[in-house]
Amino acid sequence: MVKRTVAFICLLAVLSGIAGCAVTEQPASSPQGVVNFTFFDTVSYIYSYAGDTAEEFNTRSAAVSDILMEYHKLFDIYHEYSGINNLCTVNRLAGQDPVEVDSKLIDFLLYAEELYKSTDGEMNITMGAVLKLWHDCRTIAADTPAQASIPAESELLDAAKHIDFSLLEIDKENSTVRLTDPLASIDVGALGKGYATEMAAQYLEAQGISGYVLNIGGNIRLVGTKADGSGFKTGIKDPQDPDNSFAAIVLLKDTSCVTSGNYERFFTVGGKRYHHIIDPDTMQPAEHFSSVTVITKDSGLADALSTALFCMSYEDGLRLLEAFENVEVLWITEDGTQHYTAGFENLIVE
Ligand code: ADP
Ligand code: MG
Repeated sequence: MVKRTVAFICLLAVLSGIAGCAVTEQPASSPQGVVNFTFFDTVSYIYSYAGDTAEEFNTRSAAVSDILMEYHKLFDIYHEYSGINNLCTVNRLAGQDPVEVDSKLIDFLLYAEELYKSTDGEMNITMGAVLKLWHDCRTIAADTPAQASIPAESELLDAAKHIDFSLLEIDKENSTVRLTDPLASIDVGALGKGYATEMAAQYLEAQGISGYVLNIGGNIRLVGTKADGSGFKTGIKDPQDPDNSFAAIVLLKDTSCVTSGNYERFFTVGGKRYHHIIDPDTMQPAEHFSSVTVITKDSGLADALSTALFCMSYEDGLRLLEAFENVEVLWITEDGTQHYTAGFENLIVE
């Protein structure tokens, strides 16, 4: 496989700790950037190549942060916040009365439902009951490695009875949601970050802004181009050496680049690695690829598709993609073999 050493990495491309992609150059004319550790339990970077003033950058990056923070709170399944009902509230009240939520959460859940259908159920935000079992094992393995274990088959089969999207009632008119099954729960890990990033990018676009890079935990959204109209060199991590090399470097404008990989979040039992993307067909970590990278403008779609394609064979993935336009994909298998869609090759620069 092709390996590229990351010799020119600067602050934009802090490779360790986050999955996926990184823009590989520093803003030349107007190096403006902020780092934030709050959103979605990951590291976020906002960079401007727009040539804007420090004051403009501060205002714009603060607005982006506010949007990300709002979605962070709405999507949080571990904490509730005063004054809002979020997904933690919805999960807590599963099997009870409908929960009134912000219309932004309704729009998100409807989009998630659309994506559940268009990915043949492979990206399923109502899979919380199963994901929780894996999440708990990952936490125990991290805290006390000697006690590391995987969920029992019987537990997984029981949990699998509570992961159907039809268990989630979304009432747009009354702005309420309800999980009809007390054992069902929502987990938006596969989509939330990308969706929130897209909302922030669309805010910037609505202001007529171009030249911003949003890197939200490796989920990259490029708003427009650099001030001179050129694109952003974006590195896709090499799953075999994610901290030091890229599997490919692509030149991108006005689009998103999102990777689902098996190399950042995993635990080990009996020498075998168990990562965090769970195939709804087997309830086990998906084993087709080391990573799947999706390039398409809408960051929410890119996030959903990267997870869904990670759970499908290459052939099934290609078939799924027939229903989508302007989506390019790079699949990397365990032995480093790369497969890509026809248009992907044209984006590769190194
Ligand atoms: P990351 O968020 O690490 O970049 P993904 O976008 O692929 O990677 O999302 C993985 C997260 O999504 C998991 O941590 C889990 O919370 C959730 N998840 C795992 N498998 C699925 C699935 N098949 N459908 C929906 N959500 C999933
Ligand atoms: Mg995803």
